[in-house]
Amino acid sequence: MKWLRGMMLNHMPLMITCRQFEAFLLAYLEGELPEKQRLVFKLHLKVCRECRDYLAAYRRSVEVSKRAFEDPDRPLPDAVPEDLVKAVLAARNES
Ligand SMILES: [Zn+2]
Repeated sequence: MKWLRGMMLNHMPLMITCRQFEAFLLAYLEGELPEKQRLVFKLHLKVCRECRDYLAAYRRSVEVSKRAFEDPDRPLPDAVPEDLVKAVLAARNES
């Protein structure tokens, strides 16, 4: 991964595209990105809602598959996800 870090540090601008975000998402989640690039990622997350949703969905799917593996007999939760409720409430407060 050394070549990758060097490449990113030298050529990646402060703002990255959604395509770049997606390409390096795994390295980000596994903590393989250097601090500077993590900041760039967080910056993109702040400004890009689509990537926020993408990351949230990705994390959720990882979590769900982990849980399913731990307890295959566990019933699926039927409650509305808390962050969805918060998002709806926040949207209502904005108008
Ligand atoms: Zn994006």
